[in-house]
Amino acid sequence: DKRWSLQGMTALVTGGSKGIGYATVEELAGLGAVVHTCARNETELNQALEKWTASGFRVTGSVCDVSVREQREKLMVEVSNIFNGKLNIFVSNVGTSILKPTTEYTAEDYSFVMATNFESCYHLCQLAHPLLKASGQGSIVFISSVAGLSGFLSGTLYSASKGAMNQLTKTLACEWAKDNIRINTIAPGFIRTPLVEEALKVEQYVQAFCSRTPLRRIGEASEVSSMVAYFCLPAASFITGQVICVDGGITVNGFY
Ligand code: NDP
Repeated sequence: DKRWSLQGMTALVTGGSKGIGYATVEELAGLGAVVHTCARNETELNQALEKWTASGFRVTGSVCDVSVREQREKLMVEVSNIFNGKLNIFVSNVGTSILKPTTEYTAEDYSFVMATNFESCYHLCQLAHPLLKASGQGSIVFISSVAGLSGFLSGTLYSASKGAMNQLTKTLACEWAKDNIRINTIAPGFIRTPLVEEALKVEQYVQAFCSRTPLRRIGEASEVSSMVAYFCLPAASFITGQVICVDGGITVNGFY
């Protein structure tokens, strides 16, 4: 059934060497897409590429720091060359966090978090637009966070950058609907990845988080990547401008 396949589609996933990005590359490739990904660390990227190739997935990769404008431009030229100017799927996954009290953030912290999380996402959309339009059937997925929707004790820069992505989802969905490009966002809750390795070691924090989560546990990267894939499938062709939480229910703020 074509509605449940990505056969013949091309995809760019940023930050695919670890965590949610890694799971997303596998998910999309497993459903038949040809995928290009990127990361800063060349060794880890190559290790991931070797694994995928051995599994029969069609994945290529570039070393690229998406927080740097020139590197984003170079990445999109490479993507355009590999996929003959046509891109069906763009997943903006790269994101990072620096946790400090707000009064202690430096100008460098601000630039680093905003450039990595929001500017990269915004500019790569601009660069990907002609390729997505040329494909005739484009889909963009942002990996945001529940921190962009709900209040948290710290991380104001992170939450502001994710809140910006959530709003961009809605406005861009209106603007690019005429080009048959859909834009949807996933706001994950606490997901087991290298990014949160340290936080996962703090039992008190994990327990506090789980106690406010109806499903009472931390999520897995594959539970986020399945939602990415769904947004990109022809089966989701009437879905655009949505922000959906993959969070075990923490944002329902109910009584349980
Ligand atoms: P990880 O740190 O585990 O993985 C990040 C991936 O992105 C790695 O492949 C990393 O490779 C790459 N990357 C990081 N910075 C850059 C950069 N500047 N340029 C290119 N590649 C980069 O993160 P997660 O998988 O946990 O997070 C993915 C997304 O999910 C982020 O946007 C995050 O904010 C979001 N998220 C995660 C949650 C969680 O609990 N884990 C919760 C909510 C949202 P390299 O280091 O080699 O560049």
